[in-house]
Amino acid sequence: MTAILPETAAHYTRRVLKNGGSAKKSLGQNFLIDDQVIADIIEKGFPDSDMPIIEIGPGPGALTRVLAQKIKRLWAVELDKEKVEILQKEIINKNQDCRLTLLHMDARQLKLTDIWGEEKGWLIGNLPYYITNMLLNHFLEQADSLYGMTVMVQKEVAQRMTARPGGRDYGILSIAIQLAAEAEILFDVPPSAFWPQPKVMSTVVKLNIRPYPGFIVDQQEYFHVVRAAFAQRRKTLLNTLAAGLKLPKDHIRLVLQSLNLEPNLRPEELEIIDYQKIVQALKRVDSE
Ligand code: SAM
Repeated sequence: MTAILPETAAHYTRRVLKNGGSAKKSLGQNFLIDDQVIADIIEKGFPDSDMPIIEIGPGPGALTRVLAQKIKRLWAVELDKEKVEILQKEIINKNQDCRLTLLHMDARQLKLTDIWGEEKGWLIGNLPYYITNMLLNHFLEQADSLYGMTVMVQKEVAQRMTARPGGRDYGILSIAIQLAAEAEILFDVPPSAFWPQPKVMSTVVKLNIRPYPGFIVDQQEYFHVVRAAFAQRRKTLLNTLAAGLKLPKDHIRLVLQSLNLEPNLRPEELEIIDYQKIVQALKRVDSE
């Protein structure tokens, strides 16, 4: 059960921002003010409150103040100095046994090993929408330090994260996420749960990190081909791979033929493993 706080999230946020605080659009600041959504994130968001947990972009701390009651080892990374000062005053200074450590920095620079060494932990956050992809990639690259992540993103991004081959949402992000994790949509959050209200629906997604599939030999080579394929997703595989890899079309045609893949397929019609087959076939056809 999540602890009940005497002051609602909406009241707390209004109060702490009253003395000169504001919501900065340039930093993607839409603050959660719905207690039920906060309770649900905490209830469903992570399996174990003993593991180290890091919150990305706590803002004034409507979620953080509840996490701080429950989590023994908690960190929060916030770029906005004004919000860091609020968190220090409202959460740390007011609770003597609070185990929250504040990091005033850009989350894109954060190395999880600098925080919890060789241990693994869980990442949580209502991510700033202007850098969602960048942050997801940055922390997926550090998957060895994580059991999982629970992130709130725009609904449309959540659909891309969890998309299966065949649909228009399936792309580089879907592949990157699903190679590293089992992705589960937890629930949608309406604009009315935030202040100020965003224009779009949000979704909370839980990622359980798992080992990379054994068929991927070299991640860089693999994503080089995936990026080339999706660079012009309306084109055929033949055209987009030839352009993206800067190889003659005849060469790509031979590669696709050797795998029984039709040259006029679209990049989103391929399974994750097909791209590894292309990586290998490119080398094979090269040496013939
Ligand atoms: N967690 C809070 C909530 O749910 O009410 C705030 C979420 S708000 C969508 C995103 C937060 O990320 C803001 O507080 C913003 O200042 C912070 N932020 C933006 N860019 C950041 C960055 N590069 N590194 C760390 N925090 C950042």
